[in-house]
Amino acid sequence: MLSMRPLVVAFAAALAAPTAIAADPLACSDFYSYVNGAWLKQAQIAPDRTRAGTFSDLREANAQRLLATLATLKPGDAALDTPGKKLAVAYYASGLDAAAIERAGLAPLRPLLAEIEALQSPAQLPALLARLNRAGISGPLSAGVGLDAADKRRYRLSIGQSGLGLPDRDDYGRDDERTRLLKVALDAYTVKLLVLGGTDTDEAAKAAAALRAFEARLAGASLTRVAMRDPKVVYNPRTAQQLDAEAPGFDWAAYLRGLGLADGVTVNVAQPAFAREVAKMAGDEPIALWRTYLRLRLLDAAAPRLPRAYVEAHFAYNSAAVLGLEKPQSRQRQVIDDISGRTGASPLAEGLGQLFVAEAFSPQAKARAVQMVTDVKAAFRARIEQLDWMSAPTKRRAMAKLDALALKIGYPDRWRTYEGLVIPSDDYAGNWLRANAWFYDDRLADIDKPVDRGRWFTSPHIVNAFAGGLNDISFPAGILQPPFFDGNGDTAANYGGIGAVIGHEIIHHFDDRGRQFDENGNLAPWWGDDDVQAYRQRAARLAAQYSRYAPLPGQHINGQQTLGENISDLGGLNVALDALGIALAREAGSADRAVDQSAERRFFVSYATIWRDNMREQALFNQLRTGNHSPARYRVIGTLANVDGFAKAFGCPAGSPMLAPPGERIAIW
Ligand SMILES: [Zn+2]
Repeated sequence: MLSMRPLVVAFAAALAAPTAIAADPLACSDFYSYVNGAWLKQAQIAPDRTRAGTFSDLREANAQRLLATLATLKPGDAALDTPGKKLAVAYYASGLDAAAIERAGLAPLRPLLAEIEALQSPAQLPALLARLNRAGISGPLSAGVGLDAADKRRYRLSIGQSGLGLPDRDDYGRDDERTRLLKVALDAYTVKLLVLGGTDTDEAAKAAAALRAFEARLAGASLTRVAMRDPKVVYNPRTAQQLDAEAPGFDWAAYLRGLGLADGVTVNVAQPAFAREVAKMAGDEPIALWRTYLRLRLLDAAAPRLPRAYVEAHFAYNSAAVLGLEKPQSRQRQVIDDISGRTGASPLAEGLGQLFVAEAFSPQAKARAVQMVTDVKAAFRARIEQLDWMSAPTKRRAMAKLDALALKIGYPDRWRTYEGLVIPSDDYAGNWLRANAWFYDDRLADIDKPVDRGRWFTSPHIVNAFAGGLNDISFPAGILQPPFFDGNGDTAANYGGIGAVIGHEIIHHFDDRGRQFDENGNLAPWWGDDDVQAYRQRAARLAAQYSRYAPLPGQHINGQQTLGENISDLGGLNVALDALGIALAREAGSADRAVDQSAERRFFVSYATIWRDNMREQALFNQLRTGNHSPARYRVIGTLANVDGFAKAFGCPAGSPMLAPPGERIAIW
């Protein structure tokens, strides 16, 4: 059995007696365990969480901070000095008003439910689907306004595939044990929701089987996650007239009118074949089944804001069956997550972000983080110059794109003003619908305006970072916290932590998707043919490397599905290490960018620390099928296998299990 050196010991030793550490066999055989082994052994996953680890713990800490702040506030307080804060606090209060939620029952959904019940013919479907989309309910189509992929000076409405109950389109055709269990759980959930909504039990059971077949048709026409990685595939501008010809049987003009668009406007249809199938199904699936399907989509989407029975049913499927959770989070935490959304893009997320930054992000911290981004960009520029596989003209375009890269850090310069949105403190489900509708209309109004380059699509309290569509990168204050980043902390640890994340986000603009966008963020070719060939060949090798990893028995990483993330991890770590040399030279007032071994080690230990993660098996299974990211352990060992600087820092001899053989290491950026 391998001995595990506790992280704290290894880290403290590295800080205290840098040159005294001998090559450690465990560091060279399994660096993830070398750094995180002791932590992993004792890390407990709370019954209401899918994982424990650096990201997840910081998310929890930020949420606790917000909860402490929210506990001191109530709607109407004078301290709520912005519209965002006022609305978020009122919405939060409505989510905690259990009595009002039970009393209301389905009342807030009644108008929409009545419209669904009034559906009598296929001709009514387009207007009804549009009506649901505008209230934030998708399925089978989703609709929303975003940047136009090919012209980032404007916004465009995009229509996409949606509306499946199982986590992945391929699940409908799968018959392994876990997927069978998921299907059973989904059917039970379907029956439960329909019965709660007033359907009798026998009828609901029959409907569940019919709905599965209905969804299987949608799944069969859906694109795979891998196919959707190609931005050209999901960019298909269409007018209603073109859609009528291409996807007959559905009044597309009525649908687009229902979505609030003027006649003749061009929309993006992300998956034309899916649109075609929906149009067909409008005509050949029974109208009663359509009603049941739409009622189910509405109840499923709304469930977390409905009475307790709905919340419990939603948890039993979406959290317990899909992710393996044992019990729900506290009500307060659930409401925080509801306001935030998964990526901080929900309508009122910014209100929570304002409460968060007031105390969690100083101007000094911001200045140091900005300096780090400058260093990482400089390091990346130097690496582009030295690439041996890229032609000089393409290098010039790559550097122009890097120079044009915009930075959003901490929090936005301007906050949303939420004109016209009213949020009472005792109507949770109604508030959800109102906020969704307000948000949709707000975005819709953008179509006629120039693009606002300063706008954020996440919130400052979120623990994540983003590569945005405007050739920009965003680092919310929520992730600019220890252990990713310490405004007064060790430079090496900062560059191995948030520095690697900064590198990762920058490289996203140069990964298999991102490289297809130019310096203005437009989907437009700028690569030489030979450069594309050389890039693809390297990317294919990286995909093959990750596809060999099997985090669960028989369950491999999908190297194509995770390719963009793996390219960004590898390139990001390389540029962050170079950036550390730049930073240390500046601190020492020297021109020498060589990094001493102790600092290198602290850099890599910090990198492995941010990825320490203990995950429920069911959640891991779900991630392997539906996620774009490799599991945390492979983000460390898969990346470091290709990094020469790692072998050097830990004195790992050739042939060490951590290392790809020298001739086989993959370098893209
Ligand atoms: Zn990423």
